[in-house]
Amino acid sequence: MRPEPQRTCIGCRQVKPRSSLHRLAVIDGKLVADPARVTGRSAYLCRDPACWALAEKRRALDRALELHTSTQDWERLRQGILI
Ligand SMILES: [Zn+2]
Repeated sequence: MRPEPQRTCIGCRQVKPRSSLHRLAVIDGKLVADPARVTGRSAYLCRDPACWALAEKRRALDRALELHTSTQDWERLRQGILI
């Protein structure tokens, strides 16, 4: 069996299997969570809300994806994913 690709969570910076992380990408200038397409710049975050809070506080997503995220963006992402 091939080892699963590993990615780093931008919240806790831990390296984890890609399937256990959410992928956030910028597609056509918009921030998209778990897009079907595998294009665009992307960043990975654990499913743990604590990691999201950390990433938001550190502006880790802004740095990883070269965009400016607002509080509303984070709310939208949380509502879409972290239910
Ligand atoms: Zn994490």
